[in-house]
Formats: sequence, structure tokens, C-alpha cells
Amino acid sequence: MGIASIAPEINSAAAQFVQKKGKILINNQWSDAASGKTFPTYDPATGEVLAQIAEGDKADIDRAVSAARKAFNGPWRKMSPSERGKLIWKLADLLEKNQEEFATLETLDNGKPLTISKAADVPLAIDNFRYFAGWATKIEGNTLNISSPGKYFAYTLREPVGVVGQIIPWNFPLLMAAWKLAPALATGCCVVLKPAEQTSLTALRLGELFVEAGFPEGVVNVVTGFGETAGAALAAHDDVDKVAFTGSTEVGKLILKAAAGNLKKVSLELGGKSPNLVFSDADIDAAVKGSAGAIFFNQGQVCCAGSRLFVEKGIFDRVVEGVSAQAKKIRVGPGIDPKTHMGPLVSKEQLDRVCGYLESGAKEGARAAAGGKKIEGKGYFVEPTVLVDTKPHMKVVQEEIFGPVVTAIPFDNVEDVMVEANNSVYGLASGIWTKDVSRAHRVAEKLQAGTVWINCWNVFDASLPFGGYKQSGWGREMGHDVLELYTQKKAVVTAI
Ligand code: ADP
Repeated sequence: MGIASIAPEINSAAAQFVQKKGKILINNQWSDAASGKTFPTYDPATGEVLAQIAEGDKADIDRAVSAARKAFNGPWRKMSPSERGKLIWKLADLLEKNQEEFATLETLDNGKPLTISKAADVPLAIDNFRYFAGWATKIEGNTLNISSPGKYFAYTLREPVGVVGQIIPWNFPLLMAAWKLAPALATGCCVVLKPAEQTSLTALRLGELFVEAGFPEGVVNVVTGFGETAGAALAAHDDVDKVAFTGSTEVGKLILKAAAGNLKKVSLELGGKSPNLVFSDADIDAAVKGSAGAIFFNQGQVCCAGSRLFVEKGIFDRVVEGVSAQAKKIRVGPGIDPKTHMGPLVSKEQLDRVCGYLESGAKEGARAAAGGKKIEGKGYFVEPTVLVDTKPHMKVVQEEIFGPVVTAIPFDNVEDVMVEANNSVYGLASGIWTKDVSRAHRVAEKLQAGTVWINCWNVFDASLPFGGYKQSGWGREMGHDVLELYTQKKAVVTAI
């Protein structure tokens, strides 16, 4: 086991959890997959086997969906919103109590620096559960003044959508589970969660906490397995009322097709190629640091990474030198080492994909001002990379790389850069660096993206809606907007 080669001071609960054979959670019971099959996952820092995960497939999804349906028609529907809220809050408390273990599991599984798991992934997940615990008691309908006054009384009920399938990615495994589970539970839905096959550990440990917190059986079910089998079966299932997906745009389109069978509701949080605009009147030091963080955070494996850096011509060289200097300073290493700034990519497949883009960029004439190569040796490491001399048609400019690779592109004026910034099939996030407040808001209005960060990047909060324009997705997660995704309205009209 890879765990043996990890520092002795590693959180012991996490070390023990990793050794356990992975099971599936259905009806608050842990069991093997129906097929009995398991598959290995790998420590991205070493490439060695980390854990054995149950390989759930259609049979397990069927069982989990019927457990969720029974809970939805039974105890969960009858529970008061206040009780539901209390349970969600309790779950957050348990997560907080076990935060060291969760942070360590996330780092072992995904590769990200432990400092980041501790400072971002785990606390943001806790906040998310607490924020939505508060919403459980605030889901309301309206009374309506319809025509023919005095003849009718009309009101709306906001009801949970029902049984929800949630399919999540590997870049923020715990946080994505929290983004999905918290609003679904607050609104009264029951869930079958399918974690990414590369990173199931925190979802499984979270499943244990749901049982410990006292959630009724069947409310939260966790089925591990592959996308093409378990994920596809969940997306296609006739008794699932809604599927919520975060992942690639390519798979998002498959989810949509699979959902057509019973026209289940669909929400999608997909890819991005987010433009980051630096104007010459910006605080250059802040813009340089912020732009480096925008792309290199989480090894660039972030759907809203600032992967296209547009810089006004007069300051282009200075900003590129600054971001390149930041890239060269980044200490790349195993996430578990407290000195590490950037960990490995999540998998061999992801490493090959990112290296494929680096080769394609080089072949098409892009030049690396920093990085540009795989880091030889064990583990899935790649250099933080800044590409210049790119052309708009290049794959590295058009496609989502999902790695620590930014393309830096000079611009002449605001009109030109707006065209270029919006020249993408994606529209997830964007950023502006300037001291001119009027310009910042004029540009913000024109950017075709679900989020605009002004003089900052990657600022997340449970109260901020997050989602995409264009092919970056359907619907908004977090904030009160997400309640729309997990509820439906019923109009009730009474003759009086
Ligand atoms: P990546 O390509 O970066 O691994 P994916 O979009 O493939 O990202 O994966 C995100 C999630 O979608 C994972 O949980 C994965 O198992 C799941 N998934 C992949 N393919 C399918 C599919 N055909 N149907 C349903 N889920 C899928």
C-alpha cells in the first residue's frame, strides 16, 4: 500500500480508513457491490495503490434508488423542516470534529496540498452544510391575487423534487458532495450520490457521518463505481426525478441524453476556459499574484480556473514575467508535505491529457515562459506553465486543459478584449483587474460568464450562486438559487 511510504505523522484515523475495503451505503447499511467487484485507486503523489473501492453498477443503483424512494415517501417527508435542519447542522458539527481526518483523506486521494484541504475544502464544506441547514425552515410558497377577486383563493406550495441522483467530480471531492447534498437535503429530497471513481474516500467517510448523525435510512445513499456503468445507470434511471452533475461538458451532454427517458430534471455544472483581464491601470502586483492563483490553485484542476490571461499591451511583458516568476517559485511536491504549494494531478490519465496539450501547444508554435513539461519520476506531477505566442485558434487557447497551464495573450483595447474573452463555447467565470470602478462594472456586464471576479479570483461563499453561461452548464448551485433546482412549485386554487 502507498500509505506505508507516507510520513509517520499522518492523521491516524485517515490512515486506518484508507486500509478499509470500500463498501456501498444503501439504507444506512454498508455492503459490497452486488457484483462483489472492487477496483483500486492510486495515490497521485506516488502512483501506488491507495485503496480498494466497491465497483457498484446498475444493480446497486437500482437498490439505492428504491431505498431513496422509500425514504422520500416515508420518514423524510414526514420529518419537520426544523428537524431536517438540525440533522444537517449535526452533520456539519461531525465534519468539523473530524476535519483533520477529512483533510488528510482528501489529500491522499486527490493529491492536493494538505494546507489547501485544511484551509479550503473542508471548511467550505462545513460552511455549506450550515448555510443550507438554515434554509430547511425557509422554503416557502406564496399567496396570489388572482383575477375574479372574492371568488378564488390561490396559493403555491414549494415541494421537494423527490429522488435525486448526484454525480460529482474528483477535483474537490468533499466540497462537491457538500454543494450537492446540502441543498437537496434542506429542501427534503433523498439522494443517491455517485462520487468520482478516482476519489471516493471522503464521500464514503461522509456517508458514515450521515449514519452517525441519525439521518433516517435511505435518505443518503452512496454508490461508488465508474461513470460509464454506475453513473450512466443513475442518470438514466426511470425512478430518479432529477440528476445533478458536475464534470466535463462532454459527459454533461451524455447525462442530458440519458435523462431524456423519463424527462428527469437536469442541472449541470460543466467546464470552463475562463478569461482573466488585466488592464494597465490595475494594481500590478495584486494582479500578478491573483492571476497566478487563478490558474495554479488546485493544480489548475478547477472548472473556473483563469486559464486565458488577457493583458493590456503596455504591461504585457511585466505581467507575464511576474506570473512566470510566481510559477517558478511554486514548490511542487506530495500534497502531504506541509511545504508543498502544488501537488500532483489526480491521475495518470489526467497527466497524459495535460501533457498532450503541452505538446500540442509547442507543436503549434506556443512558447513556454515558465514550465512546459512533465516532472519526471514517480507520481503525476507537471510544471506550472505559462504559454505565450499563442494564436486564437490553437487548442491550448480554445479547449479546457484542466491543469496548471495558462495562455497569456496581449490586447490593445477594451472592445477587442471583450470579443476575445467571449470567444469561447464556455462561460463559467471571468475576472477583471483594474482600479477604474466604472470600467470594471461596464466590462462585468458584458462578460458572458456566471461569475465575474473584480480584483480577486476564486472567492466562494455558500450564499453566492455559481454556474455557467453557454456550454458551462444549466442552473445555479449555492445561494437561494439552488433551491429552484431541488424544488418544484404547485399552484393550488380553491373556489370560495
Ligand atoms: P473527467 O473526464 O475529468 O474525469 P468526468 O466528467 O468524466 O470528468 O467525470 C465526472 C463524473 O461523471 C464522475 O463521477 C464520473 O464517474 C461520471 N461519469 C463519467 N462518465 C459518465 C457517464 N457516461 N454517465 C454518467 N456519469 C459519468
